[in-house]
Amino acid sequence: MQAPRTRDRKSKPESLDLLAIAAHPDDVELTCGGTLIKMVEAGYRVGVLDLTGGESGTRGSVALRQRESERASKVMGIVHRENLGLPDAGVESRRDFKLKIAQCIRALQPRTVILPHWEGRHPDHYIAGQIGYEACFLAGLAKLPLEGAPHRPHKIIYASLYVPTLLPTFVVDITDQFEKKLKAVLCYASQFSPRRDWRNLFPSRAECRERLAAQARHFGDMIGVRYGEPFVTREIAAVDDLVNMPVRSV
Ligand SMILES: [Zn+2]
Repeated sequence: MQAPRTRDRKSKPESLDLLAIAAHPDDVELTCGGTLIKMVEAGYRVGVLDLTGGESGTRGSVALRQRESERASKVMGIVHRENLGLPDAGVESRRDFKLKIAQCIRALQPRTVILPHWEGRHPDHYIAGQIGYEACFLAGLAKLPLEGAPHRPHKIIYASLYVPTLLPTFVVDITDQFEKKLKAVLCYASQFSPRRDWRNLFPSRAECRERLAAQARHFGDMIGVRYGEPFVTREIAAVDDLVNMPVRSV
């Protein structure tokens, strides 16, 4: 493990360096769990905000998924996790939902926020990306009915693993974090079948490992490492040093 970096934040010490927001418990583990673990290992304060309790899922009660989520948080080593209690399968672009998220952003003061990509199959996922973005903006407005000081994250990054056809803006090497990511995902035991049957709606643990490894390998290949997680940014990165660009060698 790397030595913790010195945090150069001027804000209060309990503020987060990185906050990942997602629709359902286990989304964060699946889409960017390896990256969160890597940032924890680098010494950053990392937190997660789940928008719903996943109560519409076919398997597992909310209480059970809550316990699973706590176990996964311990595996990842994050310092904060909370669930906003929005309705599962009912994440909508509503002002009260945006203000709830904005209130959390003010309280946690994250420097960087990871959101789900704004496209996708499941409406909860892409709407979480949309209202998450608007909440980050609202959190910085002084004249809103919110507690705490205005705060706007420095950077918003979109986790794009659920939309595998998208070309990522960058990929994070999670080769050293992959086994821990898998362990965190497998904490959600209610979502896995004890049977080894790929036709089952719920994959077995062996099937889960194979899928996660195949996905991570696909994106890892893009940067010449074993395992990777993909991200998209809306803004173009500024480059100063052409001699030492962090890219795959030819
Ligand atoms: Zn989900």
